[in-house]
Amino acid sequence: KKLGLNELRKMYKDFFETKGHYIAKSHSLVPSNDKSLLLINSGMAPLKNYFSGVEKPPKNRMCTVQKCIRTGDIENVGVTARHATFFEMMGNFSFGDYFKHDAIHWSWEFITEWLQIPEEKLWVTVYESDDEAFEIWEKEIGFPKEKIVRLGKDDNFWEIGLGPCGPCSEIYFDKGEKYGCGCEDCKPGCDCDRYLEFWNLVFTQFDRQEDGTYQDLEHKNIDTGMGLERIGCVMQDVDTIFEVDTIQQILNKVTEIAGKKYGEDPSNDKSIRIITDHIRSVSFMVGDGILPSNEGRGYVLRRLLRRAARHGKLLGIDRPFLQELMEEVAKTSGEAYPELVEKKSYIKKVIGIEEEKFAETLGQGLEILKGYTEEVIKNNGNEITGEMAFKLYDTYGFPIDLTLEILEDEGLTLDQEGFEKEMQAQKDRARAARGNREGDAWKEDPLTSLEDASSQFKGYYELSRESKIK
Ligand code: ATP
Ligand code: MG
Ligand code: MG
Ligand code: MG
Repeated sequence: KKLGLNELRKMYKDFFETKGHYIAKSHSLVPSNDKSLLLINSGMAPLKNYFSGVEKPPKNRMCTVQKCIRTGDIENVGVTARHATFFEMMGNFSFGDYFKHDAIHWSWEFITEWLQIPEEKLWVTVYESDDEAFEIWEKEIGFPKEKIVRLGKDDNFWEIGLGPCGPCSEIYFDKGEKYGCGCEDCKPGCDCDRYLEFWNLVFTQFDRQEDGTYQDLEHKNIDTGMGLERIGCVMQDVDTIFEVDTIQQILNKVTEIAGKKYGEDPSNDKSIRIITDHIRSVSFMVGDGILPSNEGRGYVLRRLLRRAARHGKLLGIDRPFLQELMEEVAKTSGEAYPELVEKKSYIKKVIGIEEEKFAETLGQGLEILKGYTEEVIKNNGNEITGEMAFKLYDTYGFPIDLTLEILEDEGLTLDQEGFEKEMQAQKDRARAARGNREGDAWKEDPLTSLEDASSQFKGYYELSRESKIK
């Protein structure tokens, strides 16, 4: 029998309880007393005051399974096998208590004894100069040294600005040659879907100084993160995180509503995966008290919800459907997150109102676009200006891919350069408004991708082209 996500989540907590950890509940997705972060994006994020010593933890070793949102991964969702905007991160933490030796030994015990993952399928990485971690893997664990990959700072050193930082060791599952990119010497660190990173062990042992040097921390910490959906993938032997048990149920509902089969058309499949992911993010965000709006978290929520609705349109769904889909999220995650069940009618209402608003926006946008195209045709032109498209997009929330699609039907084009220029200007304005918060040691990727105008444009543009192919 294959282990389900609900069982894996429990096993992880049970295991670390046997190692003396205090098991804490997931914190809200909304950070408390932390202006540097828009949304919780890792297990350690809500615990950072314990790491920095500002607050005293209930115990100096803890374990959580934390709800996370990573908007920075949005372009990857539906494209790679392993990225979601919403996922659960299982983590064990030491605040000046145990260090590398225990962290590595216990991770090994959990995955090879409790989960019984065959050793020959595993690979590990260490930071290039972290001989200590290398030796623990090689000499104490007996892991073959050809499969311990030393990686550089980009991959295996956790550091943001000044303050606590340190090397990582990551654990990978080899899905097999057929998932590889075919490069010579394909191994972890290669950016293909063959090696699935599922657990990251961070050894916070240094304190980065103003002058760029690293000093040893007096209290060394452990911060680990294992993606529940990813280990689910490994244990259930499925290709992507969208096919693990509970997520597959949501995906099935999407295909049922759309009247489409999964696995028949790459462009439809991508839309199906995006909706499946985004409805999870949206449900959990509303459940944690976030409301759609035009700024901050509310903006992230709005964009995710509308993106899901938009992909619904691409699949040919011509009625509101996100409320119905939310039911499925409550069904599959309600056991671990009872708030989804308790607040279900509220969450559905918020989703329903926003989906309706978006439908109105679409109607309004179509009218305005019609005005633009008529004007262009009347003047014997064949291109609408970047300004027009930007206004539609920015003021009326009209998706750019839809604009492109309609223009194409009319035999018209868009001044893309002009549009990108407008987007860039907006991005600069947003950045200026956000202020310079660089240098905060814990800041991560809020909105980078959602606000990244050019990549967003590219994303929508590619999407519209794909949707034409079917
Ligand atoms: P990747 O290199 O695959 O993007 P990462 O190195 O950015 O992952 P970490 O920051 O190390 O990820 O997070 C710890 C763990 O959380 C990862 O090993 C993975 O299991 C999980 N994880 C990270 N990002 C995602 C995501 N977008 N969706 C699902 N799981 C994720
Ligand atoms: Mg990543
Ligand atoms: Mg990584
Ligand atoms: Mg990692």
